[in-house]
Amino acid sequence: MDASRQPQFRFYPGAYADGGPMERSDALCDVCRLPCGWRYTGSVYSVAELKNLCARCLADGRTGAALNGADFGFHDIRLIGAAPEPARELMQRTPGVACFNPFVWPVLDGMPLAYIGPGDDPALLALPEVRAAIAAAFDEIGWDPEEQSPYALLFREVDSDRWRAVIDLD
Ligand SMILES: [Zn+2]
Repeated sequence: MDASRQPQFRFYPGAYADGGPMERSDALCDVCRLPCGWRYTGSVYSVAELKNLCARCLADGRTGAALNGADFGFHDIRLIGAAPEPARELMQRTPGVACFNPFVWPVLDGMPLAYIGPGDDPALLALPEVRAAIAAAFDEIGWDPEEQSPYALLFREVDSDRWRAVIDLD
């Protein structure tokens, strides 16, 4: 497959993995009218409707053009303290993370962290930093700290190694 059809998302590097928000599809994209290659299956928060959106259009910010200028975003989150440009990239050029409830997306030094995966992924749980981040997140909501949980969402700095977890209860 042509690599340009599969742009990388630095705030959601695993977006194309199984269980993620992108699926292979040759449906025609509503924006560019070309076969999607990779089609976005997650939510689009907007008053306007969008049926098929390809990874290219999602990544390069052309989505807004297809919504007739209506405001839109791919995330049902609160983003506090992020610089304007990375905030726009996350909200409007990064696939949404499936969640039960709106949550506060972790930000460090003005930069949103990258969503890496759920808190019951054995490969991630092998890292002590990950287990510590999950325990800290439970502690923050006043629960007994657990070191793994399917309700934890795991985040890591884009170009560094600080981890944070968010607890998303159903
Ligand atoms: Zn497209």
